[in-house]
Amino acid sequence: MKVEDKLFLVRFKPDTQSHLSVIDADVCLKCENKDCVKFCPAEVYEWDEEHKTLLIAYEGCLECGTCRIGCPYLNIKWEYPRGGFGVQFKFG
Ligand code: SF4
Ligand code: SF4
Repeated sequence: MKVEDKLFLVRFKPDTQSHLSVIDADVCLKCENKDCVKFCPAEVYEWDEEHKTLLIAYEGCLECGTCRIGCPYLNIKWEYPRGGFGVQFKFG
């Protein structure tokens, strides 16, 4: 089974509040490469050029932990979702 097929089987139980957040929005504004948009396997991060802000679709987070260390400015606050929420891998 291919990775893409396994990802299709992953299920989520999203919380109403995000477990991911930006620490300082000004740092993102000045960040040239926007690495988070590239390294997140779930494409959680998207740069909104019109509003000059980072969009975070936390509902689809795979909880891989990459963004804890992947942001070159360590500008992402990462926590586990609250108990009972988040990704469920049991189908994949
Ligand atoms: S979270 Fe980090 S990598 Fe992403 S835009 Fe902000 S500073 Fe850049
Ligand atoms: S923990 Fe992994 S999947 Fe979740 S937002 Fe960070 S890089 Fe993306």
